[in-house]
Amino acid sequence: MPKPLEQLPEGEIERRYRIGGVMTDVLDYLTSGFVERGFEWSLPVVFSESTDPLWPDPGASIEKRIAVEIYGKTVRTTASMIIHKMVACSLLYPKLFILSPNVRIEKRERALSGRHAYEFTQLDFEVRDASSRDIRSLVEGVVCGLVDGLRRDAVEQLVYLGRHRTLKTPHAPFKCYDKEELEKRYGEDWERQLTLEITEPAWVTGIPREFYDFEDDGKWDNYDLILPQYGEVLSGAKREWEYEKIIKKMERDGIKKEHYTLLLKLAKEGRLKPSAGAGIGIERLVGWIVGAQHLGETQIFPKIPGMVYDL
Ligand code: AMP
Ligand code: MG
Repeated sequence: MPKPLEQLPEGEIERRYRIGGVMTDVLDYLTSGFVERGFEWSLPVVFSESTDPLWPDPGASIEKRIAVEIYGKTVRTTASMIIHKMVACSLLYPKLFILSPNVRIEKRERALSGRHAYEFTQLDFEVRDASSRDIRSLVEGVVCGLVDGLRRDAVEQLVYLGRHRTLKTPHAPFKCYDKEELEKRYGEDWERQLTLEITEPAWVTGIPREFYDFEDDGKWDNYDLILPQYGEVLSGAKREWEYEKIIKKMERDGIKKEHYTLLLKLAKEGRLKPSAGAGIGIERLVGWIVGAQHLGETQIFPKIPGMVYDL
């Protein structure tokens, strides 16, 4: 398990320094890549009435949801910027991205997955009137360009971390799998099996989950990006924008409508617009690139489920 910074032996400090170098390059590439593609860069929020319910999501495992009272109102810590993105994309920026802290108090057994932190960062982005295919092509361009750029400009770090030979630039378009088909082939453990089988990043589509992902006749227009030998690094979707549909799905899933008053009001007034987008887990992306055993190795102050260090 990754130790806190002050307990790291000297050799490990050197490795962490190199991982930090890759993190800097990744953040630099991603943020400038989105700005160059015409996205506005928004800052995140920490507290608000509405946040991602993280339910129902087959991947969710939340032990505690944080809600506090300030100024006589109950607010929740950001689990993801999905609601804010949908609103900002509808009312203000047709293309936006946000680097945002996500607080998710994951069940403590997830410490062992090596893929979960209870505080992590997402690069969340959304595009008005975009289709799922548009977003998938955008992500493919970003991922291929990122790996290619790192292989060219971060040679020293990648060689030190033992990844220069094994980290190959992927080829777009990535293969696309249907979740139901995967389940038929592999059973419930499909994600792990697919992760072990693929040698290039791959898409999985049609995953039943939260109300905001678009669903038509039981077909979900959403997608996850799976990295070879690693697992899910990104989730995204075309979004719902119609009031009646959102309400129906919330009722079906037992979501508290009173936690989403503004979103529902905008939808009812027809001010919520169609969009599509995704969120990339930064620690997972960097963890995959550097070959980390645990994504806590990519955090200077690790937030490992079940472990609260001093900083
Ligand atoms: P989600 O929309 O819930 O799939 O979250 C988007 C992305 O955030 C995922 O694809 C992961 O890369 C990342 N992510 C989700 N949960 C965690 C976690 N507990 N720790 C680290 N990264 C996470
Ligand atoms: Mg996901």
